[in-house]
Amino acid sequence: MSHPHTPSPHHPAAPELTVLDPATEEVIATVPAADAADVDRAVTRAAAARTAWAAAAPADRARLLRRFADVVDAHVEELALLEVREAGHLLGNARWEAGNARDLLLYAAGGVERLMGRQIPAPGGWNVTFHEPLGVVGVIAPWNFPMPIAAWGSFPALAAGNAVLLKPAETTPLTALRLAELALDAGLPEHLFQVLPGYGAVAGRALVDHPGVAKIVFTGSTRTGREVMERCAARIKPVTLELGGKSPNVVFADADLKRAVDPFSFLDNSGQDCCARTRILVQESVYDEVADHLARELAAVVVGDPAAEGTQMGPLISRQQVDRVRSFVPDDAEALRGSAPEGPGFWFPPTVLTGLPSDSPAAREEIFGPVAVLLPFTDEADAIRLANDTPYGLSGSVWTRDVGRALRVSQAVRAGNLSVNSHSSVRYWTPFGGFKQSGVGRELGPDALTAFTETKNVFISTEGPAQ
Ligand code: NAD
Repeated sequence: MSHPHTPSPHHPAAPELTVLDPATEEVIATVPAADAADVDRAVTRAAAARTAWAAAAPADRARLLRRFADVVDAHVEELALLEVREAGHLLGNARWEAGNARDLLLYAAGGVERLMGRQIPAPGGWNVTFHEPLGVVGVIAPWNFPMPIAAWGSFPALAAGNAVLLKPAETTPLTALRLAELALDAGLPEHLFQVLPGYGAVAGRALVDHPGVAKIVFTGSTRTGREVMERCAARIKPVTLELGGKSPNVVFADADLKRAVDPFSFLDNSGQDCCARTRILVQESVYDEVADHLARELAAVVVGDPAAEGTQMGPLISRQQVDRVRSFVPDDAEALRGSAPEGPGFWFPPTVLTGLPSDSPAAREEIFGPVAVLLPFTDEADAIRLANDTPYGLSGSVWTRDVGRALRVSQAVRAGNLSVNSHSSVRYWTPFGGFKQSGVGRELGPDALTAFTETKNVFISTEGPAQ
């Protein structure tokens, strides 16, 4: 079903982006869309800005980033409300997201003065390495967590001495634009951190193709990521890819079942979370108990206005996304279901599909909505086989009270971010990224800044004049 009054957010011909409130379908802003010429001008400006930034004393760069964090901190509520309106996030989550951007600035600022090379023994001289900034970095962000993901790519790159051009998703440019204004308010040099709202096929491609952009950090779908990587390959341009997921939640019979089958492990952000535990793998002896528990939990989820106190799940981002999610859930599908509002807004009820074979599309493809599949397994080997039976490898959880089994399974599951007896995934101070088709490279963590540098090795001869 499509609504004729809903402008397509993905129409590259339109000169501007139309930003909708996904809870009401009201237009909340229109934003000019950058084209290739705008990208080119931005690269020129960024290249000029980054020379002085890279040459500045590390303590001065760190001080400015800390000031930027203070300004973000003073605007957490404003940024959060903007995220609620443009992305339909729950207010509490959106506050956390703005706080995450602030905290990452502080963490990255702490790295500026610690971005050290090494001294490596070499006969006949001294050998030292340097981590030199790359230059201008392009960051392409998706719509599901507009603010944190923009921050994860951009702030460590700035801290390492680069300029950043950030292209937010078509549907969610507003928090990114506001962050760039706040950077200027904090005293960051003009043009060092520019935001280029625009269509992926226009502004995104222009950024990827531009010879003046030294690296691309792309977060989005595996399909688009593949194209970005191909275009980067043609230019030998380094690229970090943070792509899709279909993460397992492996629940053994001895686990604390209530915590293990928490429905918010796949309903958070209405399931539009690359780390969502959308494959609930349950040992067959507790399958019925888990299904009963999930049925009760789904029925109790409060879906509605994301700004309202007590709401547990908001809308999806767009009509297009609702249609995509619905294509995986036929009306007559065997499923456990919650409810969702009727009327305007992009709603879909919390859903767990049951009785599907593990190779069905809903069990294999990333749905990116509030939909999980429930699949039984027999023993540890079967659990590992099922957990790995996916082209993705981003996240996952393992629930058991048996420590040895927890360690064996977390070593055997091929994914970048695993949690044992927990559903947590991302901390700005630990590395984050995917195995297999979930990505290439890592963001965040102690090495976040190094990913935005080239290592230079310099050998200095200590030989004296010939005798
Ligand atoms: P998408 O691939 O459609 O778009 C992502 C970004 O790429 C947008 O800014 C878009 O405008 C831009 N883009 C589109 N076509 C482009 C092109 N040809 N060249 C350059 N840029 C282009 O993804 P989406 O629908 O916005 O986001 C959802 C996807 O993101 C899901 O698959 C999700 O799993 C993934 N995701 C991954 C992570 C992670 O860290 N691994 C985090 C969040 C989201």
